[in-house]
Amino acid sequence: MPIQFDIDPPVARLAAATAEFVREVVIPAERECGGSVHDAPETLRETLQKGAREAGVFAPHVPARWGGHGLDLRGQAVVFEAAGYSLLGPLALNCAAPDEGNMHLLEKVATEEQKDRFLRPLAAGEVRSCFAMTEPAPGAGADPRSLRTTATRVPGGWRIDGRKWFISGAHGAGFAIVMARTSGSPGAPGGATMFLVDADTPGMRVVRDIETLDEGLFAGHSELAFEECVVGEDRVLGAVDRGFENAQVRLGPARMTHCMRWLGAARRAQDVALERAGSRTAFGSVLGDLGMVQQMLADSEIDIEASRALILRTAWELDTGSAAAPQLTSVSKTFVAEAVNRVVDRAVQICGALGISAADAPLARLLREVRPFRIYDGPSETHRFAIARRAVKPYRQPRPEAAADS
Ligand SMILES: Cc1cc2nc3c(=O)[nH]c(=O)nc-3n(C[C@H](O)[C@H](O)[C@H](O)COP(=O)(O)OP(=O)(O)OC[C@H]3O[C@@H](n4cnc5c(N)ncnc54)[C@H](O)[C@@H]3O)c2cc1C
Repeated sequence: MPIQFDIDPPVARLAAATAEFVREVVIPAERECGGSVHDAPETLRETLQKGAREAGVFAPHVPARWGGHGLDLRGQAVVFEAAGYSLLGPLALNCAAPDEGNMHLLEKVATEEQKDRFLRPLAAGEVRSCFAMTEPAPGAGADPRSLRTTATRVPGGWRIDGRKWFISGAHGAGFAIVMARTSGSPGAPGGATMFLVDADTPGMRVVRDIETLDEGLFAGHSELAFEECVVGEDRVLGAVDRGFENAQVRLGPARMTHCMRWLGAARRAQDVALERAGSRTAFGSVLGDLGMVQQMLADSEIDIEASRALILRTAWELDTGSAAAPQLTSVSKTFVAEAVNRVVDRAVQICGALGISAADAPLARLLREVRPFRIYDGPSETHRFAIARRAVKPYRQPRPEAAADS
């Protein structure tokens, strides 16, 4: 099948409308939370989402059935990049992590009853959600098989016990999607199940909000405890013991939507650097005429264009259900996470002290925000490990001792 990269006119119009909304409404609102989205008030989220609805740009990824524009991943690539130009843009459009990934997962895996109960209000922006997978050591992290949180059968349902941390958006969320072990022991490849847990379920609590380097995600990241937390059988999301497979349904597209949003942030950083390079004089010329600054600007243009091309290619593979999608998702996630860090870092360098000011330019803030992306949704090293294993697989010869055994 030929790869189709044309952007449909309605998608292009939605991207243009999103860019205008971000420029006219969202960027001016950044002042209201001092740039820190972690502690932004709920009223700001409501106001921005109301504005997005009025501008006709709300919920680009949500199927029309639930009130959104129903874009596929290729469409999301252009619109999410426009939204990501401000840290508040994805929140305004209701396409920020982790809600956006959770909506996708619920749409694909939930029962009709669960969709009505959880997806409908989430898509409308009436509640927020979180996705609870990672655990403090020695539990699940880059290697999800280390999962230690357990779910044990009890009459009429399941009892969940364990601890999760770095759970984005957990503070104030209406519900959590929780990964727990229903069979096997830590280190086993299967045996996980996902559960939908209402925030007010006895036995689930926020232990603490974790202070972090980044501050760009609404409600920040929290540690959660599950102590004899009982949920009904109807709260199993997908099949029992198929949690790791379901996680892939969420993680592949969610890695790409992170790339899309952060590419918007990188573009903003580069635009700030270009403006400075065109106006600030040093040694008898503007910065943009100095060779070493030109090199940084050019390298950032290359990083941005290469990221966009990789995102679109991978979005195409995911949209068409291609067998190449997992490998390309790892390639894109690794490249884009590192490229956006390079772009933002160069922009800081080009702007000098202005780049370090948290008040006079967005760069210092962006520098803090992009760094964790090299860790979450799979650290770069874990993805490289997976990329190399897949690449070498067709060439792998049976080991001599294995051949002798058979
Ligand atoms: C800002 C932020 C938000 C997050 N939000 C969520 C959330 O909402 N929900 C959730 O469940 N989790 C969330 N996480 C957790 C995130 O998914 C984990 O941090 C990530 O999976 C890595 O796990 P870990 O931190 O336990 O690192 P570890 O598993 O301890 O890995 C540490 C390091 O080991 C190295 N490493 C790992 N694997 C390999 C390998 N195969 N080869 C070589 N080196 C390797 C890498 O350098 C890696 O960074 C978030 C994390 C951050 C930082």
